[in-house]
Amino acid sequence: MSIQFIYPEFEVVRNENRCIACRVCERQCANEVHKYNADKKVMISDESKCVNCQRCVSLCPTRALKIVKSDCTLRENANWSNDTIKEIYKQAQSGGVLLSSMGNPKPLPVYWDKILINASQVTNPPIDPLREPMETKVFLGKRNAEIKRDEKGNLITEMSPQLELSMPVMFSAMSYGSISYNAHASLARAATQLGIYYNTGEGGLHEDFYVYGPNTIVQVASGRFGVHEDYLKAGAAVEIKMGQGAKPGIGGHLPGAKIVGDVSRTRMIPEGSDAISPAPHHDIYSIEDLRQLVFSLKEATEYKKPVIVKVAAVHNIAAIASGIARSGADIIAIDGFRGGTGAAPTRIRDNVGIPVELALACVDQRLRDEGIRNNVSLVVGGSIRSASDVVKAVALGADACYIATSALLALGCHLCRTCQSGKCNWGIATQRPDLVKRLNPDLGSERLVNLMTAWNHEIKELMGGMGINTIEALRGNRLMLRGIGLNEKELEILGISHAGE
Ligand code: SF4
Ligand code: SF4
Repeated sequence: MSIQFIYPEFEVVRNENRCIACRVCERQCANEVHKYNADKKVMISDESKCVNCQRCVSLCPTRALKIVKSDCTLRENANWSNDTIKEIYKQAQSGGVLLSSMGNPKPLPVYWDKILINASQVTNPPIDPLREPMETKVFLGKRNAEIKRDEKGNLITEMSPQLELSMPVMFSAMSYGSISYNAHASLARAATQLGIYYNTGEGGLHEDFYVYGPNTIVQVASGRFGVHEDYLKAGAAVEIKMGQGAKPGIGGHLPGAKIVGDVSRTRMIPEGSDAISPAPHHDIYSIEDLRQLVFSLKEATEYKKPVIVKVAAVHNIAAIASGIARSGADIIAIDGFRGGTGAAPTRIRDNVGIPVELALACVDQRLRDEGIRNNVSLVVGGSIRSASDVVKAVALGADACYIATSALLALGCHLCRTCQSGKCNWGIATQRPDLVKRLNPDLGSERLVNLMTAWNHEIKELMGGMGINTIEALRGNRLMLRGIGLNEKELEILGISHAGE
C-alpha cells in the first residue's frame, strides 16, 4: 500500500515571545489543533487538523497567533493543481464522494463585478437620500391586473396574499440542524426587528420560534421534515424547495450525528437517523403536479399566504420559471451556483448550475415576453455580497434578494468551509452545546440588524445617485446598468449595453 503524506494546508505561526500559555486557543479549538505540553511548559500545534476558522487568532489575548497558507506545495502545473492532486489522494484513500461546504469557489465570472451602475448628472438630477424621502419597501406576490372599488371607494377586488418587506433583502433558507438554535434565534429576531423574513429551510420550526411566525417563511422540501398543519399556518409564506443553487439536481443529507434532541423532535424523525431528502419530490414530475402541491398548500393555509417555489439556476431556467409562474405560485426564488450550503458533493457544487445574474436576466425577460411577469415576484440568491449586488439584481429584474452566507458572516462565520464537520468554532453550523453557546443571539441579531441597516442606507445612496427614489422604479430598469469586459452574448443575455454606449 502506498502512503501519500499530504502537507497541511495551513500553518500555525505562534510568536513564542508573546504567548503566555494561557491555553485559550486550546479550549476554543474544537478541532484540537492546540495542546499544552506540561513538561516543556509550551503550547504545541497539530496543523493537520487546522481548518483556518480563525477562532484562536481572534481570541488570543496577546495576538501571539496567526494562521498562514502553507507554501509547501506539490509539483503542480496549469492542468494538475495542488488541490486536484490532493483530491485524488483523498479519494484513493477513502473511496468516497468528496464533500464541501459553502458555494462554488471556482474562478468563474462574477457578473455583479462586471456590471456598473449609472449616476445622474445634469438632467434628471440625483436625489439626496439624507434630505428626500426614499422608499425601499417591497411587496412580494402576485399583482392584480386591475383594482376595482365600489361607489364609496371601498376595495372590492380580492387581493392576492403578499409579503411586505421594509427593504428588498431577506434571510435565505438555513435549516435548524444544519445551523444552531442560537443562529436561528439570531435570524428570527433580526428579521422581526427589521420587518423582513427569515426562512426555516427544510428542518421544521422549533417550538420556541412560532412567536416569530409573522416574519418566518416555512419551507416544504422533498423530505417533508417537520411539515404539519400548525407549521404551515405559523409562517407568513410557504416555500416549496425544488432545488438549491449549491447542489442542483440532488437532495439534502444531514448526518444522523446531528439529529439529536430538539433537532430530532423538530424534524419529527428519530434521534441518530440520517435526514436524507430525496433529489425529486416523489409527487412532482410535471408542472401540473407542482400546481397540485401549490394549491394543496394554499388550501392548507386558507389562501392567506403566498407560495414560493425555489429552484436552482440551471441551463433552461427561463422555461422552468415560465412553468412555475403558470403553476399558481406567487413568488419564484432562483438560487445561483455560488449559493452556500452546509454540505454538498464537491463535484456538484463546483460544476453544476449557472450564475444567478444570467438566470435572473433571462427569466425576467421571458416572463415579460410572455406577459406573465406580474403574476409572480422574483427573488434571487446565491452569493449576494453587498448593497450594490442588491441594487444590480433589482435593476436586472429581481423584486428582492435572499442572503445567507453574508448573514452568517455577520454572525461571525469566517468561511472556513467545514460546516459539514459539525465542529463550527463560531457556534453557527453545529449542534454541540458547548459550541452553540458561543453565539449569543442578542449580539447575533444586533449584528444582523446593523448589517441590513447599513445596506439599506447604501441602497438609498445608490438609488439617489441614479435619480430614483423608489425600489419600484428601479426594478427591471436595465438602462441603469452597463457591462464592462463582457462579450456580445453575455450582454445580450443580461439585456444591458456596454460601458461607453
Ligand atoms: S491563546 Fe495565544 S497566548 Fe494563549 S496559549 Fe494560545 S497562543 Fe498562547
Ligand atoms: S459556519 Fe462555521 S464551519 Fe461553516 S464556514 Fe462558517 S465558520 Fe466555518
